[in-house]
Amino acid sequence: MEKFEMAEICEKDIEHTVMELMKKQEELKKSEERYRVIIEATKDIIWEMDLTNHKWYFNGKLYDILGYSPEELENLEAWFNIIHPSDIELVREAIREQSGKNIEVHTFEYRVKCKDGTYKWLVTNSKCEYDEGGKPIKAFGVLTDITELKEQQKRIYDLAYYDPVTGLPNRIMLAEIINEKIKKANESKSKFSMIYIDLDNFKVINDSYGHSLGDKLLVEVSKRLKEINRNKINSFRLGGDEFIVLMEDIKDKEEVEQLSRYLHKVLASVICIDGKVFHITHSSGAVIYPDHGTDFNELLKNADTAMYKSKEAGRGNNSFYDDKMGEAAIEKIKIEADLHKAIENNEFELYYQPIVDVADARIKGCEALVRWIHPKEGMISPAKFISIAEENGTIIEIGRWVFENACKYAKKMYDRGYTDFYVSVNISPHQLLQKEFTDLILKTIEKVGVAPELILIEITESVLIESMNLAVRKLKKLRDKNIKIALDDFGCGYSSLTYLRTLPINLVKVDRSFISDIKSEEDTQNITNIIILLAKQLGLKVIAEGVENHSQLNYLKKHKCDMFQGYLVSKPVPEEKFIKLLK
Ligand code: C2E
Ligand code: CA
Ligand code: CA
Repeated sequence: MEKFEMAEICEKDIEHTVMELMKKQEELKKSEERYRVIIEATKDIIWEMDLTNHKWYFNGKLYDILGYSPEELENLEAWFNIIHPSDIELVREAIREQSGKNIEVHTFEYRVKCKDGTYKWLVTNSKCEYDEGGKPIKAFGVLTDITELKEQQKRIYDLAYYDPVTGLPNRIMLAEIINEKIKKANESKSKFSMIYIDLDNFKVINDSYGHSLGDKLLVEVSKRLKEINRNKINSFRLGGDEFIVLMEDIKDKEEVEQLSRYLHKVLASVICIDGKVFHITHSSGAVIYPDHGTDFNELLKNADTAMYKSKEAGRGNNSFYDDKMGEAAIEKIKIEADLHKAIENNEFELYYQPIVDVADARIKGCEALVRWIHPKEGMISPAKFISIAEENGTIIEIGRWVFENACKYAKKMYDRGYTDFYVSVNISPHQLLQKEFTDLILKTIEKVGVAPELILIEITESVLIESMNLAVRKLKKLRDKNIKIALDDFGCGYSSLTYLRTLPINLVKVDRSFISDIKSEEDTQNITNIIILLAKQLGLKVIAEGVENHSQLNYLKKHKCDMFQGYLVSKPVPEEKFIKLLK
């Protein structure tokens, strides 16, 4: 103003200056207005704190977000009261750092509790103002509610690291944890173990009852696995029906074996889903770091190999990895690849093992047992490839081939004058569950032109038979057409007198393990006699499997077993040899 007083200024100049001022004021108003609109429109909360008296100022949005009144958050103390206990130290440290040094802007995240008890994630950036002496007098900044973002981040994290069906951590998480454990184990010279779990027959359940029931079953299995989790033990889902149980700081192999036995017990107890009852068994394979592998992939591969060994040994087992298994794993991969071509290349052959009358030693029929004559590997036993064929689905085609050729053989024998000679055929649960199963059996019998009375099918009491009305219906249909049905391998697994009663069967085949246990004709410990008695009461015929010596045969005679099979008479042999046997 001094300038104006001193100068000789014309009116025009004054007018111009006033105009300029008004314009500036207008601009300022507009910019303030814009600023206000921006603040209101953003989700950010502007705050300011007087560091001399610790009084806060927030714009109103904070109170909307957290649900408090301005009085409730008047000072720093009140604010600290609502910070998440785990974040308090972080906030204090940030404040200390900020006020100590002349930092430009400081950004950090923490949680505060809302009036309703839930927590919100906030990110804040803050800046200080200092007096001439460099003492902080004022802090200000912007707070942003990032709860939604944090939840999204968590969802992305969960999606990446957890299995959505069972809630168990997944393979990616396992890989990261194992890498960490390897470092830790190297430092502390400690050991850890991984047990690879694969449910037996899960594919059958999934295919026959549908994925939704399959998922429920996996959820129940996972629940049981979660229940055994404690500080040393953690479970993961690899995918499908495969799980890993990790055990840290192990002392010795025995400790892992103990856990594995416990796992078998826990998972084997009955599972009820949608009114159906399942007995789930699993096969497992264990590895120990550092004995059985140096990195995650090697450990996992070897545990898988050991698990597969357990499957081969008859499921429901646990095996430890050993170096020889590596070769077996390579073999498995070869078998799997070659199986697909084996049928079109005509590489299968049927062998026949006589089924003999216990009382008069006459051959009543035979069991057809498939053999794979591999062009390079030579003969491969069904014990090796059937479970792989079941896994990759080729069992359906193989089974079809086996059944048709077994029927042709029965017809051939009939035409040769053996008019009551029957042929018994093994049927995989996977075949039985096919929609077209009964049709296929009946049509094949018709096509070949063999009498259905001469065909016997052998089924096993595996998990699928349980509560399986469908299987029962199918088998009844076949039995009504005079096809005979035998329950194979009776006595091992979850047997069950109830199956004997509910399944529409004509015969029971007592599992080899009972027969090999018979010590002498007078053996009183063995329970084969009880099985025979029971079957007879139910009107079923009994075949004993795996008879290798005379004392076993005499025992069977004594207890009035109907028929037997075994090396005592003959191993399974090709067609030409079988004819010689008959003569
Ligand atoms: P399985 O049905 O229990 O067949 C009996 C097995 O015991 C046969 O083994 C037979 O060679 C063997 N065996 C017979 N007598 C004796 C004996 O006195 N002592 C001993 N130690 N063993 C004896 P194989 O032929 O290796 O078959 C193994 C399994 O493979 C069969 O067990 C059956 O479950 C399956 N299998 C065989 N052929 C087929 C088939 O065509 N289809 C399906 N789905 N499975 C088949
Ligand atoms: Ca059999
Ligand atoms: Ca058997």
